[in-house]
Amino acid sequence: MFRTHTCGELRIADLKRTVTLAGWVQRIRRMGGMTFIDLRDRYGLTQLVFNQEIDAVLCEEANHLGREYVIRTIGTVAERSNKNPHLPTGDIEIIVSELTVLNVSATPPFTIEDDTDGGDDIRMQYRYIDLRRNAVRANLELRHKMTIEVRRYLDGQGFLEVETPVLIKSTPEGARDFVVPSRMNPGQFYALPQSPQTFKQLLMVAGFDRYFQIVKCFRDEDLRADRQPEFTQIDCEMSFVEQEDVLQLFEGMSKHLFRTLKGIDMQEPFVRMTWHDAMKRYGSDKPDIRFDMQLVELMDVLKGHGFSLFDEAAYIGGICVKGAAAFTRKQLDELTDFVKRPQIGAKGLVYARIDDDGVKSSVDKFYTQETLGLLKAAFRAQTGDLILILCGDNVNRTRKQLGELRLELANRLRLRDKEHFACLWVVDFPLFEWDSDTQRFYAIHHPFTSPKPEDIALLDTDPAQVRANAYDMVINGVEVGGGSIRIHDSALQRRIFQFLGFSEEKAEEQFGFLINAFRFGAPPHGGLAYGLDRLVSLFAGVDSIRDCIAFPKNNMGRDVMIDAPSRIDDVQLDELSLTISE
Ligand code: ASP
Repeated sequence: MFRTHTCGELRIADLKRTVTLAGWVQRIRRMGGMTFIDLRDRYGLTQLVFNQEIDAVLCEEANHLGREYVIRTIGTVAERSNKNPHLPTGDIEIIVSELTVLNVSATPPFTIEDDTDGGDDIRMQYRYIDLRRNAVRANLELRHKMTIEVRRYLDGQGFLEVETPVLIKSTPEGARDFVVPSRMNPGQFYALPQSPQTFKQLLMVAGFDRYFQIVKCFRDEDLRADRQPEFTQIDCEMSFVEQEDVLQLFEGMSKHLFRTLKGIDMQEPFVRMTWHDAMKRYGSDKPDIRFDMQLVELMDVLKGHGFSLFDEAAYIGGICVKGAAAFTRKQLDELTDFVKRPQIGAKGLVYARIDDDGVKSSVDKFYTQETLGLLKAAFRAQTGDLILILCGDNVNRTRKQLGELRLELANRLRLRDKEHFACLWVVDFPLFEWDSDTQRFYAIHHPFTSPKPEDIALLDTDPAQVRANAYDMVINGVEVGGGSIRIHDSALQRRIFQFLGFSEEKAEEQFGFLINAFRFGAPPHGGLAYGLDRLVSLFAGVDSIRDCIAFPKNNMGRDVMIDAPSRIDDVQLDELSLTISE
């Protein structure tokens, strides 16, 4: 038997027991004639003791062990004189009587501690060593528990987990597809699914009623810290539902996860906010409502006083930062640089400090104290507050810039407590978004999303105003999930495809199977998908989803451990009827 117990298991109640443990050598300390070893496995650490005076040969063997050697040891549980209250096994130690080296280890390229000395690249190259670290392992344990609880909850609600294919058909709408050449069909390609969207809708046509799947999705996008080319969704679909049914059921799932995984009992219903309100009040379609600092529109107050930048703007708005009037010139310059970054794109930042003598702004010469008094009143600002103002020629773009500034300030002022969770639903998204580069409308969610029935008439007259039956769940400023009520009528689906610029033939070629299926009794249906990686990272309190994925890719989409993607040899290329042009 390799072990009788794990390294996280033994307590004071086990005193005097003879036990066998197996694990990795975390640390060796020599003190006088004694050698102490911390033995580690997935479950914890246990201290082993070797005493020169009792068994010099054994102690010498212990002195020759190296970090990460794999050993098996037999010994007796004893009470520790120097107890470690931070360790669950900290009251005991093992007086070792037998030691076997099961395997040696090369010196690991970084320390296996919570705060490791290994940089990102080296940790990813040796991810199997990195995964021995508590912090990373704990995230994966949380991920495991989350998938178990998701399955438990959805099973309890009558959902069936159904697998859908990974080799499917390429559809250019949305992100770029990863494609896979078919050997048996030369010149033809499969695509990897960006999501199982059409399949889950077909399962509704098939009468499955309630479907879910914890499923890998693939999108060939440029990567940021919180994106991976392959990621996991909790994908769900339901029949005979309206938006309200979906929101209720999945609010219930989120609350179940908070209760079972974080011990947080959320009694209140989640806030509901229209997309329009979210943009207006927070400058974001995924507002972080853990803190206030809402956007206030200032067109009435500041336009038309001779300050040309404001006078020509389509939108002027600001935020009030409580107690920040004491910000230094340097801090204000940093904020100005922040909003001028190309990613944010504002032209400049105007500020106003509220102090005992009144309002002092960077554009004082254009405004009377009376107008500045109105500015103060618009925010209900008080002495000590700082008002920051942006303007622009595009209303929503400027709101988004203000929204970014709001988040930046909250980060600086530490208002974004990771252990405080603020959940909401953003509803009533517009159905389409106009793209001025390509001069066409795009579906904001996807082309299968149903317009609100009362807005269908606007499709011909004012398409930008058509609202979708679509919703996102947002937690702490992160979109953790989103979905919609679908179109289940083939005529309306055709009409939307046509509106989005698909010719009759193109729509038929790409989505003919779906439109055809809708001819055979499609029930009203809707659903949503959560991003599992993001949800886990939020629960774990980490910023990057990479820390919650066992074997993630870097921001060039590479797996540096197995060195993928890589070239394939000419024989394989031949078989696939492919030539590489360089
Ligand atoms: N398939 C959608 C997505 O991946 C989610 C949904 O509409 O259910 O975003």
